[in-house]
Amino acid sequence: MKKKKIRCLIKYENVAIGIYNYKVFLPLKSGWSNNSLVTCTNCGELFVIDWENPETENLSIKQIAGSTLCPTCNVILSRYLATYPATIRISEDQFGSFNDEAISNQDEGSEIVEFYEIRPPQKDLK
Ligand SMILES: [Zn+2]
Repeated sequence: MKKKKIRCLIKYENVAIGIYNYKVFLPLKSGWSNNSLVTCTNCGELFVIDWENPETENLSIKQIAGSTLCPTCNVILSRYLATYPATIRISEDQFGSFNDEAISNQDEGSEIVEFYEIRPPQKDLK
């Protein structure tokens, strides 16, 4: 699986009861980029989906993942994907959540971060 660099705001937030200052990645949205993150609920790996890619148009997250295996824990990703940061896997038995709607979409303090990119199956066949 290829990696993709995207610009993210990085926040340290309260994501679960008793879990403070937890690092949360929030992809910046602009006219040229519409990336969102999803997480593997089995291992916590994060993935980027590029919604500006014409191949992803009208597809669900599960359709985009297809039969792709998680590069970190090897599960079939479509069975374990959840939208991030609505779902954050903190540890084996603890999940958190963060609502990013209240965060303003500003460039300030953002960083380039690299994530695995999930692309629709056709393009993985070569
Ligand atoms: Zn995984």
